[in-house]
Amino acid sequence: MKNLLPLSLACSLLLWPKSMGADAALMADSKKVSVVEYLYADVSDANTILSTFDSGLLSTYQGKDRAAWEQFYREGRAKLSKKLERFPTSGLSDRDSRAIAAMRKQMKAFTGGGAPFGPTVKCKDAARKEIAYADLKSALVACFVEIGNRLDFEGGKINRVSALDLLHETSDSGRRKAVFFAFVPLWKAINGNNEADSPYRRMMAAAAAEAAKNGSEIDNAARDVGINPAEVEHWLVQILDAWRESSGDAMVEPWDFRFQTGEADRLLGTYIPRESLQPINQRYYRDLGADLEQMGTLYDLAPRPEKAALAYTEFVTHGRMVNGVWKPTVARVSAPYERGGLFVLNELVHENGHVVNITAIRSRPAFVDWPSDLFTEAFADVPSWSTYEPVWQRRYLGHEAPEQLSLRALYSVVVLDVAWSLFELRMFRTPLTDPNALWTEITSRYLRIVPHPELSWWAVRVQLADVPGYMVNYGFGAILTAEMREHTSEGLGAFDTGDSRWYGWLSQQLLRYGSERDTRTLMQNFLGRSVSPQALLQQIHRMKPVS
Ligand SMILES: [Zn+2]
Repeated sequence: MKNLLPLSLACSLLLWPKSMGADAALMADSKKVSVVEYLYADVSDANTILSTFDSGLLSTYQGKDRAAWEQFYREGRAKLSKKLERFPTSGLSDRDSRAIAAMRKQMKAFTGGGAPFGPTVKCKDAARKEIAYADLKSALVACFVEIGNRLDFEGGKINRVSALDLLHETSDSGRRKAVFFAFVPLWKAINGNNEADSPYRRMMAAAAAEAAKNGSEIDNAARDVGINPAEVEHWLVQILDAWRESSGDAMVEPWDFRFQTGEADRLLGTYIPRESLQPINQRYYRDLGADLEQMGTLYDLAPRPEKAALAYTEFVTHGRMVNGVWKPTVARVSAPYERGGLFVLNELVHENGHVVNITAIRSRPAFVDWPSDLFTEAFADVPSWSTYEPVWQRRYLGHEAPEQLSLRALYSVVVLDVAWSLFELRMFRTPLTDPNALWTEITSRYLRIVPHPELSWWAVRVQLADVPGYMVNYGFGAILTAEMREHTSEGLGAFDTGDSRWYGWLSQQLLRYGSERDTRTLMQNFLGRSVSPQALLQQIHRMKPVS
């Protein structure tokens, strides 16, 4: 499909939001709703600005300090709650009613400060048997900060991201094993000695009880694709089977898995020093038609001891129409990068996939918010998977790894996410399951990893504690990523080495709706059919079986 006619329409809408049709879609139908909606936008900004302060990035914003923003937030929020609670929904247009409902729901998630992934309790609180579910999750996130940000290695300290990177890059097998076992204190903090009432196992029991009432991330992902959770499990197993078929029968130790699949990372590591991460990232997005600097994106990429233990992207301010002109969204990226390398670069490009997702939203204030978790994580990988294509590497690094090695490096990371997705899906279904036994069963069967049920080596992802079930958005999300990459290549042509139309085209097709359009409708309209695992299976089958 090479018909690019809709593209000219896409660009005109994006560049001239003053045109009649576009303008109307960005505003409420009723004047009264519009007033509440603009108050909502201001309070929502204050909420994310306070989080930006508390992440440690800023001490003033737009000339005001934290105290001034907090006062603005408190007063604004009180006013907004009153207005939203009392708002009469009869007599409103359908889209205004949906906007009111969306604002009521989203306002409940406002925190009024506190850094994202910043724990409110201590890691040691996870040992308290009577601790409430929310505090237990927060305590386990605290373990990732307190322990995961300072793992003991060779007489010094390294953080979790660096340790995972070193598992790809360290050629001395003894040293590699030592990196792997540097995680032991973290594993113990999360899952004790794997006893039936270990912190993680108590947390999962509570998570499953909560999901029985309100649904889980896995239920949401199934809904977003229009299938049931049993089919989600079947699709995950299909992907793992495809990997197994391409990977030969030899068993590998868990401390060697990332090394064995990470040869591309090693071949290219020296060409990606830490200081080159941002220039490469920015150049790639410029080639895709998205100028991150011009967007005013804020970056906080250096490690700090108390900083969030993982990379994330968040709004600073939310875009909106002001006097007929679009005032753009400003995003920020936080990460704890000590080292460069392809694994880290791929993650940085993923985070900036989130940046272009939210800066592309052109909607009324009620819907200038994240789309579903599944879509959000899946879309961020659409640009980032290109970093493992030799043509991308040649252009942006000046060197390339052989295609087969690059593909194996990329999909080994994807199938680990799929393994975690299946792990969580089954933990939710049977929360009394022994997690070490389950992880051993999945990784030995599909990834050919030597069983070590005595080790909780699955406990290296912050998401497992922050939002149980979230890993499905990566593992199962890979199916949507492959679909979006394939369909975009069909619509625009290959984009691994850039295409200045990419950002405008995807903005128009997928991103401009924000939280207004559900993922199932969005993907159905984009693809012209329902989502299927075929595109991802085809990608995995690009790998020639290892003999
Ligand atoms: Zn992400």
